[in-house]
Formats: sequence, structure tokens, C-alpha cells
Amino acid sequence: MDLGLKDKVVVCMSSASGFGKGIATEFAREGAKVVVCTSEAFKAELDQAEKDLDGERIKVPEEESDVVCELCGRRMVIKYGPHGRFLACPGFPECRNTKPYFEKIGVACPKCGKDIVMKKTKKGRKYYGCIDNPECDFMVWQKPSGEKCPRCGKLLLEKGNKLVCMDEQCGYVKNKPTEEK
Ligand SMILES: [Zn+2]
Ligand SMILES: [Zn+2]
Ligand SMILES: [Zn+2]
Repeated sequence: MDLGLKDKVVVCMSSASGFGKGIATEFAREGAKVVVCTSEAFKAELDQAEKDLDGERIKVPEEESDVVCELCGRRMVIKYGPHGRFLACPGFPECRNTKPYFEKIGVACPKCGKDIVMKKTKKGRKYYGCIDNPECDFMVWQKPSGEKCPRCGKLLLEKGNKLVCMDEQCGYVKNKPTEEK
């Protein structure tokens, strides 16, 4: 595989969810000089590296997702961009569909039964919402635990080391069971 990265400097943020170790290794194998930064201090270099690479489509090994492109029916693949992961249609360039990729947390939406995913507000605050948004408007700030409230049947949310009912009116609270590792 030739990504045309020979002698290019690629700056990867180890904190960014997008650039995993595997990808850095892949880049290095293509002859790029890979600089892995562990702090935001190198943001400027990262931006510069992005600019240098502009105009060249970097082919990164693709991971298939279970999301089907609504435009052409292909299975969308997970891509790595400067702002983290996103989904793109493998039908590119005929189909240019892309959409944000959301991490599923393995808990079903209490409103519609679809997956709850982790999202971020524009300001970067984490929240949990239904994957079917905007069709379904379920969202909570705390991570749903997957356990149901024994009093009202709604979801219990993780709040520190407690599980609290998502319904404030109900007010049910219990200690979080200690995870066995
Ligand atoms: Zn498509
Ligand atoms: Zn929903
Ligand atoms: Zn409750």
C-alpha cells in the first residue's frame, strides 16, 4: 500500500480518539515520520501537518460499521479525521455520504429501544442521547447504567459511585455495585 506519505511528517495526538497506535504504525511503515504528541501543546504542529497533507486523501485501513448508508445501501466504514472518528460511505466518490460516528454504550433507549450513544455538545460537554436523534429526543447528562429503577422502571444513571433514577420525581438512589475486574 502506498499512501504517498514518504518523508512526510505526521503528527498524531495520542489523546485524540482518532489516531490510534495502529494507525501511527501504519503511517511509519509508509515511510512517514510519525511524531506522537501526548499533550495539547503540539496543537500547532498538528494543524500544520494537517495543512501539509491537505489535498491528498490518506487511505487508512477501513473498519466496517453496522450503519448502512441510506443513500446507496453500502455498509459505512469508520474513518479517522482530525476531530475523531466519523462514518463515510465506501462508495466514494459516487456516494459522498458521511455522518458522525457515535460510540454505543450498550444500553437501549427507554423511549424507542434503539441504541444510546455518547455525544458531545458544541462546547465539548459529554452527554448521552438516542442514536435516532432528532427522531427521538431522549438525552441525559449522566451515563445510563443499563439497570432499571426498581421503583418506577426508568433508567438508573451513573453519578459518582451512586446510581440514581433518571426521574427526579422518583428520586431513587442506590450505591453503584463494585465492578469485578
Ligand atoms: Zn452511500
Ligand atoms: Zn430513542
Ligand atoms: Zn425511579
